[in-house]
Amino acid sequence: MTASVLFPPHDQRLSWEFDLTAMLAAADQRVASGAVVPTFDRDSFADELAKIDFEQPMALDDLLAWTVTQMEHGIVHVTHPRYLGLFNPSPSFPAQCADRITAAFNPQLASQTTSPAAVAIEAHVTRLIARRAGLPDGSVGHFTSGGSEANGTALICALTRAEPGFTQSGGRAFAGQPVFYVSQDCHLAWIKLAHMAGIGRDAVRFVATDGHGRMSVDALNTAIAADRYAGCVPVMIVATAGTTNAGMIDPLGPCGDIARRQGLWYHVDAAWGGAAIASDRQRGRLAGIERADSITIDAHKWFATTMGCGMFLTAHRDALSAAFNVSASFMPSHAQDLDPYMTTTQWSRRFLGLRVFLSLGAGAWAAHGAHVDHAVDLAQRLAGRMTAQGWTVVNDPGLAVVCLAPPAGSPPVREIVQHIVRSGRAWVSAASFEGRDIVRACVTHGETAPADIDAVAVLLVEARTACVTADMKHPILVPVS
Ligand SMILES: *Cc1c(COP(=O)(O)O)cnc(C)c1O
Repeated sequence: MTASVLFPPHDQRLSWEFDLTAMLAAADQRVASGAVVPTFDRDSFADELAKIDFEQPMALDDLLAWTVTQMEHGIVHVTHPRYLGLFNPSPSFPAQCADRITAAFNPQLASQTTSPAAVAIEAHVTRLIARRAGLPDGSVGHFTSGGSEANGTALICALTRAEPGFTQSGGRAFAGQPVFYVSQDCHLAWIKLAHMAGIGRDAVRFVATDGHGRMSVDALNTAIAADRYAGCVPVMIVATAGTTNAGMIDPLGPCGDIARRQGLWYHVDAAWGGAAIASDRQRGRLAGIERADSITIDAHKWFATTMGCGMFLTAHRDALSAAFNVSASFMPSHAQDLDPYMTTTQWSRRFLGLRVFLSLGAGAWAAHGAHVDHAVDLAQRLAGRMTAQGWTVVNDPGLAVVCLAPPAGSPPVREIVQHIVRSGRAWVSAASFEGRDIVRACVTHGETAPADIDAVAVLLVEARTACVTADMKHPILVPVS
C-alpha cells in the first residue's frame, strides 16, 4: 500500500466521493424515521474498534461504510426531528456545503496575506451580524470554536482593559482579587474560563436570579458593592440571553446601565438567543444587547451551522489587539492589527465563517428569521398542549425552550424523561428551574413539524402514566448525551 490512498487519483476520488454522498443521504433519511438514541451494541462495537489498530491498512470504502454505520447507530441524533434537546441544531444544508468547500481548499485563516478572500468574507459576515445586533459602526468580530472560546475572549478583553498590567503580570497585577458577575443560571463554562485566565475560580460571582430565571438587578448591585468594600476588583458583568436550562434573558438594559455606571466591561452571552436578531418578530426580546462591549453568538446553535462555530463581536477593535497582539517575524503579515492571529485566541484557523456566509447569503435574514419563528411557534404549541393536560409551563418559552412541571403527585421528572429517552421516539432532558425539577424541551430542528410536537406531547403524558405504574425495581439506564 502506498501513500496513494491518502491522495488518490482523480477518478478514484470522485467515485469515493459519490459513494459517500449517496451513503450519507440514505443514512440521513433512515435517521429521521429511526430511534433518536444509540441502538448499537457497545460491546461488539468496542471489539470492532479495537481490531482497527493501524498496523495493517484497510480498504477506505469499507472504513467509510463502517464509520457511517457507527454514526447512524451510535450517537444521539441531533438531526432527528423529535430531538427536543440541548442547543445542538440539525445543520443547514448551505453550512454543510461550506464544510466541503473548506475541506477541499483548506485555507489558512491566520493572516490576510495567505487567505485574503477568506479573511475578508469572515470579516464581512461578522460586521453585518454586529450591525444587525445593533452594535455601533466600526464594530468587529471573528469566528471561534464555540461559545466558550468567545466568552473567554470577552474575559481576557475585560481583564486587559481593567488593568493594563494584566498583560505582563497576569492576575497578580490587580490590587485585589479580580471578579466578574454572571447569573446563577449562566453557562458553567465561565468557571473553567476563570481558571484558564489565571484569576482563579473564585473570580466568578454567581448572582441570584429573580424567581423567573433572570439575574436579579438588586442582587447584582449588592454584590458589586460588597466586593468593592472587601477590596476585590470588579471587571465585567455578563448578562445571559438564553439560559441553558430555560432560555431566559437577563435584564439586558439594566445590566448595561450598571456596567456603564461602574466602569465595567459589559458582555452579553447570547450563545443561544443571539440568533433571534434574525427575526423581526423576536428581536425586540434582545433590546439592550446593542449596549454591550462584546457579544457571544454561537453559529452552531440557532444559526444552525455544523459544530464548532461560535462568534465574538465587539465594539472595541483595540481591545482585541491589546489582548492578542504579539510580534512574529516569521509570519508574512503587513497588517498585523487586522490579522486574525493577532486579534484572536487561535493561530491556525479553519474557514468557519463560510458556513454563515452561505446560509445567510442563500436565505438572507428572512430565512433565518423564519427558522427562529418556527422554533418559537412550536415551543408555544408544546406549551399549550401540555397546559391542556394539567402540566405547568414555568418559564417564558419565547426563545423556544419550554420548561414543564408535571401535575402534582407525579413521579420524579427524571423517571419521566428516562422513559421517553429509552423509548427512542423523542429526546427531552431533565433540568431544574428556580429550584423546581422540570422537563426541558427545546426546538432546534428546522424540519420539526407540528405533528412531531403533538407526538411528543402524547409521549410525555404516556410516560408520566407509565412511571406512576412502573415497577421501579428495574432501574432504567439512559445513554449519556
Ligand atoms: C452553549 C453555551 C455556551 C458554551 O458554548 P459552546 O459553543 O458549547 O462552547 C456558553 N453560554 C451559553 C449561554 C450557551 O448556551
